Amino acid sequence: MNEALTAPRNADLELDEQRYGDDPLGDRDTDHYRNEYVMAFVNKWDELIDWDGRATSEGQFFIDILRARGKESVLDVATGTGFHSVRLGEAGFQVTSADGSAAMLAKAFENASARGRILKTVQADWRWLNRDINGKFDAIICLGNSFTHLYEESDRRRALAEFYAALKHDGVLILDQRNYDAMLDHGFTSKHKFYYCGDKVTAEPEYIDDGLCRMKYAFDDGLSYTLNLCPIRKNYVRRLLHEAGFQRVRTYGDFQETYKENEPDFFIHVAEKS
Ligand code: SAM
Repeated sequence: MNEALTAPRNADLELDEQRYGDDPLGDRDTDHYRNEYVMAFVNKWDELIDWDGRATSEGQFFIDILRARGKESVLDVATGTGFHSVRLGEAGFQVTSADGSAAMLAKAFENASARGRILKTVQADWRWLNRDINGKFDAIICLGNSFTHLYEESDRRRALAEFYAALKHDGVLILDQRNYDAMLDHGFTSKHKFYYCGDKVTAEPEYIDDGLCRMKYAFDDGLSYTLNLCPIRKNYVRRLLHEAGFQRVRTYGDFQETYKENEPDFFIHVAEKS
């Protein structure tokens, strides 16, 4: 395993501007995330996701799910700026922190160091995860709506197959997504409660159709960034998880077991191999 004990270095770290084509609504491509998580946006990301507020909102949800199943080793495949890697590490789990973006991993490493933790980081794209990650894990987490960066169904199937293969025989995958069903069917409303907790930022879709949800993150200093995401529906993701081989899939709405379909901002799928 390529375990880095220093922050990763990569040309991506130098980029300041997000890169879109002449028609940004046409950028519907799985590899596009590399053009979006530029260092300037990554540095802003923690203003967007206020760690204390986020920790309060989600409470012990992920820790309880992992502990209830006796899980110890966790692979965070969408580390981002490191929120869950750090939190689970502090809770006593053995965490490996992966992400396809070197800029994100560098920020995660810095955030963890500031909290007295050394992250075990691996730069890995989900589609080739097992090329870069060795060993099998008790659990994989893919959180913060990350999976919806994948545009092609073949990429989703491939990523899920890689996640499945990196889990032990009784492993669990925890993967979340925005409630795109509600956004597509009823328009966007968000309580801004769970993930985008910062007060100095608005996070809203500036465009949505069946194949694209373009989220805009506007900060109070006038800067704004965007993410082009694929609005995949809840039951479609559940089906993909089953078809990838997961035996049981339970879907929570904003961390609750029971909910009205339109109400949650986020769905959290807990998929078990056995
Ligand atoms: N989990 C973090 C959180 O909740 O704050 C980060 C979420 S951020 C929306 C999505 C992350 O997924 C980014 O760090 C991005 O680099 C990563 N990502 C997107 N597509 C990826 C891929 N194909 N392989 C690996 N990482 C990917």
